[in-house]
Amino acid sequence: MLKLKLHWQILIALIIAVIYGLSFPDQAEYVTWMGDLFLRALKMLIVPLIVTSIIAGVTNMGDAQNLGRLGLKTITYYVSTSVLAIITGLFFVNLIQPGVGADLGLRKEIPELAAAPGNIGDLVMRMVPTNIFDAFSSADMLAIIFFSILFGFFITRVNQEPKEFLTNFFNAGFEVMMKIAHFVIMFTPLGILGIVVGVMAEQRNNLAEVLGSMGVYFATVLVGLVVHATITLPLIIRVIGKVNPVKHFKALTTPLLTAFSTRSSSATLPLTIDAVENNAGVSNKISSFVLPLGATINMDGTALYECVAAMFIAQAYGIEMSILSQAIIVFTALLASIGAAGIPMAGLVMISVILTAVGLPLEGVGLILAVDPFLDMCRTSVNVWSDSCGTVIIARTEGETLSV
Ligand code: ASP
Repeated sequence: MLKLKLHWQILIALIIAVIYGLSFPDQAEYVTWMGDLFLRALKMLIVPLIVTSIIAGVTNMGDAQNLGRLGLKTITYYVSTSVLAIITGLFFVNLIQPGVGADLGLRKEIPELAAAPGNIGDLVMRMVPTNIFDAFSSADMLAIIFFSILFGFFITRVNQEPKEFLTNFFNAGFEVMMKIAHFVIMFTPLGILGIVVGVMAEQRNNLAEVLGSMGVYFATVLVGLVVHATITLPLIIRVIGKVNPVKHFKALTTPLLTAFSTRSSSATLPLTIDAVENNAGVSNKISSFVLPLGATINMDGTALYECVAAMFIAQAYGIEMSILSQAIIVFTALLASIGAAGIPMAGLVMISVILTAVGLPLEGVGLILAVDPFLDMCRTSVNVWSDSCGTVIIARTEGETLSV
């Protein structure tokens, strides 16, 4: 029997789901359970996968020097591409000015805003957990990553016997987690079918706003994302990583489609690790450190979106943004993207950090709520794409031979 490759199966599922969700919204519940089940399974994997992967990654690096070098490269890539993304967004939002004349009457209430972290200090503080089990149970990624890096690093500092035991233990744990991930990945097309039918059935009324009153705003974010994903990042991997961007894109189709459908970089992480290792040929030593970190702190798409959204709100309220205010937006958009969790709508909630920093009305977020789910799909794919580009660049600069 003809066996379609996984990404083709996903694409077909996606198309069927859009048609089904829009045509039979009342029958959505017959398939949405598959999406819920799939997402639950992916979420089940996230915390143990990140912990074992980062600890194994750090211990495999061996010493502080290696960790320092890789850590520095990773952070440099993540910060610089996020800043490039934000500047791209800033350019287009100033050029197109989507917010000028926007109808403030379209504003909607957002209950989640109350729970958003109010300032940048909170974001930094949150990195150090007071109770690691609390952080595990609430899937507080920054705190979990911070603890895992520390734990992994100090494994390399203990005596030979416990060091070997713990290194083997976490490597084995990671291997088992990836085996479970492979099992879950087999169900991706069915999971995506369920998720997308649900989103379409729920959001079909908002589709009109994407095409209508919010169309220019939607297009501004989209143009920025497309430029960043198809020009900036490919140029960087071509020039610095000597990687063929088209081949790399083909290697990543499954996680990119999954990111688009699930709107969660964290939930996509198992598929990203799988594709980067098995299709792009990056070693486990590098991907197991760089990717979990990226899924949490490197969000180019979100960073760009934060900047455009904040500027859009300012334009809609008729508030002039000085160069200084725009510079603050760039900086806070970077921090907000680092602090945003890799889950749906995280970016929307984080806009409040930027609005507070430059004194814009918080209720402005209600203006962009309707189109957020669709933009979330696009920015999450760009987030995952950038993580994967960073991984191949770092692997190359570490002297690895890749298959892309
Ligand atoms: N959904 C995005 C992600 O998981 C975060 C965001 O809402 O911007 O990468």
